[in-house]
Amino acid sequence: MNLEALYKEAGAYLEGHFLLSSGNHSQFYLQSAKVLEDPKLAGDLAQALATQIQAAGLKVDTVCSPALGGVLAGYELARALHVRFIFTERVNGTMQLRRGFEVKKGERILVCEDIITTGGSALEAAACVENQGANVLGFAALANRGFCKRVGSDTPASLTCKLPNDVPFFALGDFTFDIYEPSSCPLCKDGSVAIKPGSRGN
Ligand code: ZN
Repeated sequence: MNLEALYKEAGAYLEGHFLLSSGNHSQFYLQSAKVLEDPKLAGDLAQALATQIQAAGLKVDTVCSPALGGVLAGYELARALHVRFIFTERVNGTMQLRRGFEVKKGERILVCEDIITTGGSALEAAACVENQGANVLGFAALANRGFCKRVGSDTPASLTCKLPNDVPFFALGDFTFDIYEPSSCPLCKDGSVAIKPGSRGN
């Protein structure tokens, strides 16, 4: 699957000078919501991901996503796997299960994001359900930003990857463009100013 072409076609692969939520800068930004605005495409991508997960022999009871970014991808993945779907959300900075969502002791949960960068939010969602006795048997995302090791790729995880290395991570492809600390950003050196994605209608 050519994930890059697919994101470009959907207008989801933005080029410019972006300020990321981590505080770093990048020439590119991935806006997965633009890919997922087409329910048919979202369903097809989730089906491809589900096929990988089933081929690996994972028996999933429930998909759980961290809101907001992971919800659409996770919901479609749950549909493709024929399992239920729940989500966690941040309340005053802390990831929580709300809205009456419950997990059982030993429930087998797959945590799904739209994109895994270092996996921080996915890991927080995993901790939420593990605290209630669930068993997180894998992570999934449409795309891997290239810092974590996904099943089927030889590229090793970098030190910034927060996902545990003994739990499989499934994704449809990698995006490996550079990110820069502001002090060493070549785009800043060229005189442009980093903008927050979304602040100009993207
Ligand atoms: Zn910059």
